[in-house]
Amino acid sequence: MIRLSGIAKSFGDNTVLDGVELNIAEGRVTALIGPSGSGKSTLLRTANLLEMPEAGTLEIGDARVAFAPGQRPSQAEILALRRRTGMVFQNFQLFPHRSVADNVTEGLTTVWKWPAAKARSHAMTLLEKVGLAHKGDAWPATLSGGQQQRVAIARAIAASPTLLLCDEPTSALDPELAIEVVDVLRTLAEEGMTMLMATHDLRLAAQIADHVAFLDGGQIVEEGPPETIFRTPTDPRTTRFVGTLL
Ligand code: ADP
Ligand code: MG
Repeated sequence: MIRLSGIAKSFGDNTVLDGVELNIAEGRVTALIGPSGSGKSTLLRTANLLEMPEAGTLEIGDARVAFAPGQRPSQAEILALRRRTGMVFQNFQLFPHRSVADNVTEGLTTVWKWPAAKARSHAMTLLEKVGLAHKGDAWPATLSGGQQQRVAIARAIAASPTLLLCDEPTSALDPELAIEVVDVLRTLAEEGMTMLMATHDLRLAAQIADHVAFLDGGQIVEEGPPETIFRTPTDPRTTRFVGTLL
């Protein structure tokens, strides 16, 4: 079960998330859409506790963390939840001074305490999966943006997360490089990886999402299958947003 419930987050007096409710179907891709500044990135960062919500409950697989004013979960609870997630960022965020393979093994050896040889072998399998087995010893800076993002995806799935969070995974890429990344994400989706993907690209959402959730005013305003959300939304805010982009 993957559930975000009552999630609230403010920065100063800017209330960004105001009681977000979202159930994420396992084995499916959920696209999180919404206007720029609506809090998509904040919601993803909250889902893996890069940002701490002020209130709400996160349940990801067997990890459950509850927040309330004046109550803070233990470090062990926070780590357990983080270990159930992987994250892909808009700007890749590879470690620049580590080889491609070492980027993928980093979490396996430090967080999961895998022996180096086992981690390396697993990393090479993942790099092969994203079409980059020949780049294991390369430096990230020598790769194209599309290749760097594919390494970032290999890194994010290395420890078999319950939930893969993707924040605008193609928006820093030229269209021809974005296609490589979309192909990798689609393959993962077909293999049953559960994903929550923030995107302002409705075409991308239509291509790989099974479910679309529209975030506006700090809440999920409307959600449903892509064809419903894109063609016959019922909330006027969804209608207006989708209408501006199609
Ligand atoms: P989106 O990804 O939908 O464009 P964001 O989650 O990036 O939206 O931002 C939502 C709001 O939260 C914006 O008003 C933004 O300025 C604010 N915000 C995000 N992160 C921070 C932060 N670390 N400190 C202060 N304000 C932030
Ligand atoms: Mg964002």
